[in-house]
Amino acid sequence: MSVTKYGLIGHPLGHSLSPYIHERIMDAAGIRGRYELYDIRPEELAKNLPLLMRDLDGFNCTIPYKMDVIPYLDSLDDTAARYHAVNTVMDRRGYNTDRDGFLSAGLDMAGKKVLVLGAGGVAHMMAHEALARKAKVWIYARDQMKAHKFAEDLRAAGWESVSVFAEEELHEARDMDVLLNGTPIGMWPFCGEMASPASLFRTGQQVFDTIYNPAATKWVLHAKKNGAHAEGGLTMLFWQAVAAQKIWHPDKKFDEARLLPILPELSREMLHHFPVKYVFTGFMGAGKTTISKEAARILKMHVYDLDEQIEKVRGCSVDDIFARDGEAGFRRLETQVLEELLSREGSALISAGGGTILQEKARASIRTHGAMAVYLHASLDCLWMRVGNGTGRPLLGDLREEEGTRFTKVASLYEVRLPEYESYCDIRINAEGDPDAVVRNVISALGYGG
Ligand code: NAP
Repeated sequence: MSVTKYGLIGHPLGHSLSPYIHERIMDAAGIRGRYELYDIRPEELAKNLPLLMRDLDGFNCTIPYKMDVIPYLDSLDDTAARYHAVNTVMDRRGYNTDRDGFLSAGLDMAGKKVLVLGAGGVAHMMAHEALARKAKVWIYARDQMKAHKFAEDLRAAGWESVSVFAEEELHEARDMDVLLNGTPIGMWPFCGEMASPASLFRTGQQVFDTIYNPAATKWVLHAKKNGAHAEGGLTMLFWQAVAAQKIWHPDKKFDEARLLPILPELSREMLHHFPVKYVFTGFMGAGKTTISKEAARILKMHVYDLDEQIEKVRGCSVDDIFARDGEAGFRRLETQVLEELLSREGSALISAGGGTILQEKARASIRTHGAMAVYLHASLDCLWMRVGNGTGRPLLGDLREEEGTRFTKVASLYEVRLPEYESYCDIRINAEGDPDAVVRNVISALGYGG
C-alpha cells in the first residue's frame, strides 16, 4: 500500500497542529498517509499551487488562501460555493468543511436570538447556519462598516432577520440565547483578552468560541462561570479535519469510537505547543495544592505550590516569614515569586495562597501573563472541617486559642475573601466533593476533558 500525501497551505503557518490531527485520524482509519505544512508566501502562490495540486492527494487551505485558491480550481461543492471559501481541495474541486466542524458542536439555534462576533469568513458561515435555522441574528464587529456590509450580504442572500449592534449596544445585549465568537480575540498568546464583556453571559445560554488555543478561552471560562453551556473551537477543528479526510478517502470507515479518544489527547498536546498558566485560588483548605498536583500529573504539566516556592526562596517556613517580616513582608515576597513562576517557560498549574489574589500586584501579574484564575470553592463548614486544627496556616491564629474564637476569626476572613474570589476568578469549581471528581471537573472545565 503506497503512502498518500496531504498538506496545509497558508501563510504564516507558525505552529500548526494539523499534521498531528490528520496523522492521528488517518492512523485511526487505517490510512497510510503523510500530512505536511506548506507555508507559501502570497507572491509564490501562483507558482507553487499548481505544483502542489499535482503532487498532493489532497490539501487544506487556511488564512489567507481560503478565497485565493478558488480561481485555480475547476469546481466548488455547495458549501464552498455558498461561503465563497475553500478549506479542503481534492482533484481540483474545493470544499468547505469548517461548516461540518461548527455543526459538530450541536448548538440548538432554531428560532433563537444569536449574536455573532466578527465579520470574517467563519462569522459569515456561522450566521448563515443560524439563519438557516430561523434564528434572529445580531452582528457585532469592531469595524462597523464591515458589520453593515456583512448584514447587507446576508439580506441579499434572502435572510431578513439580521441586525447590527453598535459598540454601546453590545453592552446591553443581555438577552441573547446563543453567542458565537468568530474573531481571534483571546487566542494564544493573548489569552487574557475577551471577545465580549462577561456581562452578556447568563444561565442557560449556549456559547461557542471558534478559537481552539487555548482549549477554553477566558471568554469560554467566564461563560461557564455565569452558568452558560460553553465550548471552545477544538471539536470544530477536529471534526472539520475528519470531514476533509472523508472527502479524501470516501471508501474508508471513520469509526467514532476510534476517533473520539483523540480529542482529549489533542487538547493536551496543545498545552505543549501553546503554553498556558492556570493559577488556583480559594480559601485555605479548598484543596488547591492537592487538586493542582493531580491535575498536573494527568495533563503532564508543571505544577508549583506558591508557598513551597516561597519557602525555597527564603529558606524558612511561611510561619517564620510571617513572624519575622509580618504579613506585608510575606505578601511582597509572594507577589515576586508568583511573577517569577508566571514567567517560566511551559504550561503550568500554580497553587496560590488563600490571600494571593487579593493583592493588586499579584492580579496585575496574572493579567500581564494572560494566566487564568481557577477558584476552588467550598463552604465555610467544609473548610473548617478540613483545616480547623491545621498547623502552618498563620492566619488561623494560635492553636492554643479556644476553637470558637478561632472559628469566628476564620469566618470573618471567609466573609471578606469570598466575594473577592468570586469576582476575580475566570472559572469557579465546586471543591467540596471527592478530590478525583473535583480534578475531573477542573480538567473538563479548562477544556482538556473527553
Ligand atoms: P477572518 O476572515 O480574518 O475574520 C476575522 C474577524 O475577526 C474579522 O471580522 C476581524 O475584523 C475580526 N478581528 C480580528 N482581530 C480582531 C481584534 N483584535 N478585535 C476585534 N475583531 C478582530 O478569519 P476567519 O477565518 O473568519 O477566522 C476567525 C476565527 O475563527 C479565528 O480565530 C480562527 O482561529 C477561528 N477558526 C477556527 C476554526 C476551527 O476549526 N476551530 C476554523 C477556522 C477558523 P477586521 O476585519 O476588522 O480585521
